[in-house]
Amino acid sequence: MDDPLQKLTALFAKFPGIGGRQARRFVYFLLSRDETELKRLGAMIADIKRDITQCPSCQRFFPKSDLIKESKECKICRDSARDGSLLIVVEKDNDLDSLEKSGTYEGHYFILGGTVPNVEKEVPRFIRIDALKKIVAEKTKSGNLQEIILGLSLTPAGEHTISYLRTILSPLLANTKVQISMLGRGLSTGTELEYSDSETLKNALLNRHKE
Ligand SMILES: [Zn+2]
Repeated sequence: MDDPLQKLTALFAKFPGIGGRQARRFVYFLLSRDETELKRLGAMIADIKRDITQCPSCQRFFPKSDLIKESKECKICRDSARDGSLLIVVEKDNDLDSLEKSGTYEGHYFILGGTVPNVEKEVPRFIRIDALKKIVAEKTKSGNLQEIILGLSLTPAGEHTISYLRTILSPLLANTKVQISMLGRGLSTGTELEYSDSETLKNALLNRHKE
């Protein structure tokens, strides 16, 4: 495939939620921009791994310019004013952004990086389960953690992930006071967390239930 138009279209079509037709639309959009702008965009993409780092605790991506010398953690994880007794597990960075924007959550985060499809095999391929186990072990040891909120979207993949996480986390929490909770039904079924408005997120958090 030597046609640059097709090559770039095929590349965009790999983006989440983007089909072939949209991918082609992106390519035509780029062709309508001037060259300086395209060069700037190209350079930004080329440098993204250099300029962005990943937090070893919550796993979120953030600009390296936010780093301080003493820590590899992000601003949120470093913030001692936040409530260390709460840990919410979310699917992706966008979910964290929505919760932060809603201003209704003060605890810590863990970003799973995906959901578990309805196949039990090769789960580590889909989510950061080992990193989660490590963080939960560290936080339970330090004695501050009281509650892990499974903040997944109420979609089939989200529900499946919740039950998978329960089976993994329950034995780790067996001799601790840490409880597992789920977001309340303020969150409408089938809606992705990242698309829920602040009021909905607030109610879902307030109405969360433990089992
Ligand atoms: Zn962090």
